[in-house]
Amino acid sequence: MIQSSIEFFKNLPAKQCSECGEKIEEQHECYGNKCDKCNHISN
Ligand SMILES: [Zn+2]
Repeated sequence: MIQSSIEFFKNLPAKQCSECGEKIEEQHECYGNKCDKCNHISN
C-alpha cells in the first residue's frame, strides 16, 4: 500500500531547462523550468 511517493518521484523524468534543454538539478524548486544559467539571463 505504501508503494511510496519515493518510488514515484524516482520514476519522474529529470527536469530540463525550457530554454536550453540543460538538465536541472532538483534542489532548486524556485528555479521553475530553467537551469541556473538561463534563470540568471532571463531575470
Ligand atoms: Zn538553460
